[in-house]
Amino acid sequence: MMKRLIDKLEKYHQLTKDEYISLIENRNPEISRYLFEKSRNIRELHYGKKVFIRGLIEFTNYCKNDCYYCGIRRSNKNTSRYRLTKEQILDCCKEGYRLGFRTFVLQGGEDSHYNDQVIIDIIKGIKSLYPDCAVTLSIGERSYESYKAYYDAGADRYLLRHETADPIHYKRLHPPSLSLESRKQCLNYLKEIGYQVGSGFMVGSPGQTSEILAEDLLYLQEFRPHMVGIGPFIPHHDTPFFAEPGGTAELTLYIVGLVRLMLPSVLLPATTAIGTIDPVGREKAILAGANVLMPNLSPREVRDKYMLYDNKISTGDEAAECTHSIIESMKLIGYQVVIDRGDFKGDENIIQEVSNV
Ligand code: SAH
Repeated sequence: MMKRLIDKLEKYHQLTKDEYISLIENRNPEISRYLFEKSRNIRELHYGKKVFIRGLIEFTNYCKNDCYYCGIRRSNKNTSRYRLTKEQILDCCKEGYRLGFRTFVLQGGEDSHYNDQVIIDIIKGIKSLYPDCAVTLSIGERSYESYKAYYDAGADRYLLRHETADPIHYKRLHPPSLSLESRKQCLNYLKEIGYQVGSGFMVGSPGQTSEILAEDLLYLQEFRPHMVGIGPFIPHHDTPFFAEPGGTAELTLYIVGLVRLMLPSVLLPATTAIGTIDPVGREKAILAGANVLMPNLSPREVRDKYMLYDNKISTGDEAAECTHSIIESMKLIGYQVVIDRGDFKGDENIIQEVSNV
């Protein structure tokens, strides 16, 4: 019965809410194995054994928001705050380019110090020095006009997880100033403007049920993002959720597999969070259908300050060390990190791959 649902998802790329709930609630090791075999095959049909890498630059941990799960929330007085200058960011890119990165992801808290002019200046700086690289922004909710201005300045992609597709659950995770409605509005704007857009959510966040997870999957099915970030919720000791249980690697991997069947050519990262709760979590995610890794390129001095959750990995490694170990660990499971922008290609490239066989 469950296998039939997985076959159906593989064939039609969509299921009903009840079918997703059923797949989540009745999963077991045998079903997972069945799913991962398919998700891995589909991933290889589209991307072969290639793994794309993105250099993650965590450029500010100041944030005006107060999300209950996040370690860099405004109310956390125990975080020492930092901001990177344009020059520091360009230094990260220089090192990253040397190491083979062709995408730079600028991620940060919602920090008004980086107004439109500052962000545009940084994007143009990166694009003029590295015209062959993609720039991805992940700086939260801004206006249509701002998003448009960044796009016109050269930004290619934008990551904005929807966090949870259930409005009541959204309220459980966020302060009253934030709403699912405005989050979704931003995602719609980003897509309309022409960005490659990433959405996603945490697995196992407080109050999440199988029904809510099914709603998250339905949202992805409908919105059809180009990228999907999925990681386990991990408690941070200085947040209101300090005593909540974290999400499991097992369920996170299962959801990754389902997303690969639903959106066959999606860019799907093996996230840092899954690597944090399981030492081989990122390898397992690749084997479950993920095709992207996002190593940390932030300067060493600030890495332990961008603590979204406890025990975040590779806070001490040099960018180079960290990248080398990732390349090696991918080789060990038969995958190859490539020097490539790794753009979203849509579903048409599959035809070429198949006719090559
Ligand atoms: N300010 C940006 C970037 C947020 S950080 C934005 O609003 O999009 C990137 C992601 O980290 C978040 O979208 C969230 O899903 C995840 N995250 C934050 N706290 C977390 C935690 N405690 N455990 C796991 N993931 C977390």
